[in-house]
Amino acid sequence: MQQKKQSYMNHSANTTYAPLLVSPAQVLRGENILSQSGNAIAKLGKRPLIVGGKQTLEAIEPYLEPIVKKYDLKTTQGSYLPDCTESSLSKLQELASSHQADLIIGVGGGKALDTAKLLAHQCQIPIVTIPTSGATCSAWTALSNIYSEASAFQYDVALDRCPDLLILDYGLIRTAPPRTLIAGIGDAIAKWYEASVSSGDSTSTLTIAAVQQARVLRDILFQKSVVALENNRSDDWREVVDATVLLAGVIGGIGGANCRTVAAHAVHNGLTHIPSAHNALHGEKVAYGILVQLRLEEMLHNNQLAVSARKQLLEFYSSIGLPKTLEDLGLGNISLSQLRQSAEVACQTNSDIHRLPFVVSPEQLIAAMVSTTELSEVASAKAIPES
Ligand SMILES: [Zn+2]
Repeated sequence: MQQKKQSYMNHSANTTYAPLLVSPAQVLRGENILSQSGNAIAKLGKRPLIVGGKQTLEAIEPYLEPIVKKYDLKTTQGSYLPDCTESSLSKLQELASSHQADLIIGVGGGKALDTAKLLAHQCQIPIVTIPTSGATCSAWTALSNIYSEASAFQYDVALDRCPDLLILDYGLIRTAPPRTLIAGIGDAIAKWYEASVSSGDSTSTLTIAAVQQARVLRDILFQKSVVALENNRSDDWREVVDATVLLAGVIGGIGGANCRTVAAHAVHNGLTHIPSAHNALHGEKVAYGILVQLRLEEMLHNNQLAVSARKQLLEFYSSIGLPKTLEDLGLGNISLSQLRQSAEVACQTNSDIHRLPFVVSPEQLIAAMVSTTELSEVASAKAIPES
């Protein structure tokens, strides 16, 4: 917080501004829009390397086949598995080079798309993203997360632009398990709780705009998620998919460095270092992380607004099935040393948890992680010794 204040005070003629990476160059969306996207894809390249998971690559085949024939594309396929890792990327780089790929097409969820985007960035060729679920806004953003071979979060990479083409085919998204959209809601709603903190007291036009968009996004999700999940043919379902895949990305694009992730994603990153947490989706861990963040604000900063925000979220999570506790994430039996390890990762010096306007120790974080549903009393973290 203190640092942020200073950086605003020091604005001068010498201030350099990061480029604005607000949106993909082109977004095509609609029911079965993929079948009508051949021309837009073929304009970007004739020798695409299609990146995805094994099942997704098989599932997408019937959709892409007519396009490949009609536009005479020379395609090859590559898997991003075991994860979006440095070794997956170097393997795919070799494939891209041997195929003389002039275009990357990423198909799948966040990790497949993150791999495809970073690969295109490294090869300096265009990128098309085709999300197959509403679980993240990765199809939109100029950012990729890198994981270890054991799927532990390592670091993120800022890309030089958003994708050249995003194809949001509602028919395709509808085939994904409903749980993926629920996770996407958890990831998208975090934008408000994190951006409103990380933006600090910024008076920047675009930062203010992004934070307000994040509030609108939260309200849309509060209003429409239940109906959307009951009926995936409803307008509300499409609106919620737009919110998780598109609007969440817009906010990251407009807000840039001032609307970064805070504790909710830091908690997620820490949890990825526990192998048994890998069954929970990104957005599920982030949703739980929001409750932890609010709990920290409440315990360490005596923030009473955080108490009512957490109450509101607990009700919302119950109505749509987002995890509220470690038990809900399937982590009811983890050892204290695993919990401590994930808290230590989340509290590393470079972690976004330190965007909170107060210091957080691993002990304090553990106390928040095990009390996300605590409503009877406002615990005082002053009783918890700092490390
Ligand atoms: Zn996320």
